Amino acid sequence: MIRKTEDSSFPEGLSLQNQPANLRAMLQTPVTALAGVGPKLAEKLGKIGLETVEDLLYTLPNRYEDRREFRRIGRLREGRYEVFGGEILYSGETTTRKGRRKLFEVVVGDGSGTISLKWFHYRRQWQEKQFKVGRKAVFGGEVKRFGAVREVHHPEVDFLPAGGSFEAYRAADPLVFGRILPVYPLTEGLHQKTARKIWKEAVDRYAPAVRSVLPQEILQRRGLQPLNEALVAAHWPADDVHYESLGSVNDPARRSLVFDEFFFLELGLALKRKGMSLEPGIPFQVEHRYTRPLARMLPYRLTAAQRRVLGEIKHDLMRPHPMNRLLQGDVGSGKTIVALMAALVAIENHTQVAIVAPTEILAEQHYRQFSFWLEKLGLRAALLSGGLKGRPRQELLEQLAAGEVHLVVGTHAVLQEDVTFRCLGLGIIDEQHRFGVEQRQVLRRKGMHPHILVMTATPIPRTMALAVFGDLDLSVIDELPPGRTPIETRLVADRGRNELYRFMRGQLQQGRQGYIVYPLVEESEKSDLQAATEAAEQLRSSIFPEFSIAVLHGRMKSDEKDAVMQRFKAGEIQLLVSTTVIEVGIDVPNATMMVVEHAERFGLAQLHQLRGRVGRGAGQSYCFLLRSQRCSEDGLKRLQVMCDTNDGFRIAEADLEIRGPGDFLGTRQAGLPDFRIANLLQDGRVLEEARQEAMAMVEDPEFPSADKYREIIATLHDRWGGRLELASIG
Ligand code: ADP
Ligand code: MG
Repeated sequence: MIRKTEDSSFPEGLSLQNQPANLRAMLQTPVTALAGVGPKLAEKLGKIGLETVEDLLYTLPNRYEDRREFRRIGRLREGRYEVFGGEILYSGETTTRKGRRKLFEVVVGDGSGTISLKWFHYRRQWQEKQFKVGRKAVFGGEVKRFGAVREVHHPEVDFLPAGGSFEAYRAADPLVFGRILPVYPLTEGLHQKTARKIWKEAVDRYAPAVRSVLPQEILQRRGLQPLNEALVAAHWPADDVHYESLGSVNDPARRSLVFDEFFFLELGLALKRKGMSLEPGIPFQVEHRYTRPLARMLPYRLTAAQRRVLGEIKHDLMRPHPMNRLLQGDVGSGKTIVALMAALVAIENHTQVAIVAPTEILAEQHYRQFSFWLEKLGLRAALLSGGLKGRPRQELLEQLAAGEVHLVVGTHAVLQEDVTFRCLGLGIIDEQHRFGVEQRQVLRRKGMHPHILVMTATPIPRTMALAVFGDLDLSVIDELPPGRTPIETRLVADRGRNELYRFMRGQLQQGRQGYIVYPLVEESEKSDLQAATEAAEQLRSSIFPEFSIAVLHGRMKSDEKDAVMQRFKAGEIQLLVSTTVIEVGIDVPNATMMVVEHAERFGLAQLHQLRGRVGRGAGQSYCFLLRSQRCSEDGLKRLQVMCDTNDGFRIAEADLEIRGPGDFLGTRQAGLPDFRIANLLQDGRVLEEARQEAMAMVEDPEFPSADKYREIIATLHDRWGGRLELASIG
């Protein structure tokens, strides 16, 4: 498949020997270098992100049309793109059955049957001139059926020259009929025919020069095609392929491209992981000086899962290399106490601990929990809130730098440059999905290779965890503390509101508390605030006048929020009306009701987080998802998932499926790479394979210095850009 270098279509100076540098340059060729692509067309392509030849090569068809065979009209299959030849039997303007709309209809036949072709947008004169009765043409389009009538709307048409045969026609232009054709994503003013020409030229001229840098053994072991072959096949499938699997997970061409994409991601992660595991760290000793007294003071025993995970963490902490571990556990699974135990080990070893939380409220709550136990053990915790300014802040920074404070909790305020430690031994990041990978780095640089523990309550499906956090070891708390009654979740339509209020009143009278949550309205943050404030007003004045109701929202100052939360925790407030600020981690066991307004506007993972605010005590808890009238069929299906299961992992999978990975975590925040071809949902198996190969490669003692790895390393640098700190591998 690889063309010779003297092929005139290659840009000057390119030789296949000194890839990938030259290959790289070649792939960066602007689309304007292609025949027929002028500035105007280039601009249109630019609108959908296609600027270089590489962009074209790696933008695969959305789907394919099987135009290999002509079908007899009598045997056209419904729902398929079919190609058929026929003679025009009738042609003329008419109206839709109800007479509302004009359309142009052409009936064609080939002796085996007839079919009706319809245009709803057309120029009448032109149509009439073209579609003369008796003319022969080749047609292509998706066959639809309306009752007994088969139709094709806006078919592609190619007329035969007078006296021409279908056979001669077919042989003449392979870009129209007679083979499987790609269908590309389009933008306004770009026609499929034009797109095919552009892509064809890009593929013909440039794809053959793309060379797999992956070792032959890997390609063979995994049944992969070399990149150049895969690219050609993905754009222009051969005639003998299995049409149905084209573009699917099983399409060998696509699989090969996906593997290549995943491989370099995983190789980078494997290297980072290896690099970090080789860094010198602080080997801790587990002396139980503080952990044992704490265990004795706790009002409960740790669950088996908590103990197992704690064991994994302690094992890491004792090694002379820094820990990099992700602690995953559903809401309410008891991650905090595990983190506290880990923190105590660090403190036992005369080092300090930093805890970073995503919101002020959470930071404050962590601070209260940690300081409560630390004080009992004679240790000092401090809160570094974003609001802390001037002298008090300066004093705290000095105490941290002097090592007088054992543990500090805060938001990103902790990550600021002037925050220094005497000896930071352990950094804990809560709710990782809100943080980029960079935050981990910042924390890491505040100490001499401190241990890092990342905690997340978002049950990330395994494939995604591998891709996003592939450089971390994974611990999962897969068991809830005993004595929890599963939360009952119900979908409530607007007309059920009064009944819901009756039920809530009953619960409130029994001394229970509840949350009412309003979604963030995207266009203006004000309006959700308004919605929440107004709703609280209405609840106060006309629905629950006998109970105390407060509002909590993101625009309140942190001490105001804190005051409200404290009063809610103390039971002075029965109903907390809030915007989504309560989403993560807030812990009030007596709150047993959660009402979510406009539930359909939330992602499932987010709803699961919200719901996790109740069901924290022994009482039966309820979650009511109020849906608006406008809630779509799909929306209902999603919400139903919430009613069907409390299992965060199942919910996460469903959410991921519905919303796609980028949306699920927020691609940029999560540090999730943009895949050009791969799809984390579908291609989990390939990811797994790529990961195995990548990990095996970094374990090779000859890696990366051996000559055979030179191109791999170059490609790796290329793909990761500046995001890979690979100083050690040169
Ligand atoms: P999350 O994993 O969501 O951060 P938390 O650490 O906030 O969960 O724990 C949720 C609740 O469960 C807290 O009230 C905590 O005190 C309690 N808890 C944690 N571990 C146990 C346990 N082993 N047995 C009983 N209750 C526990
Ligand atoms: Mg928590």
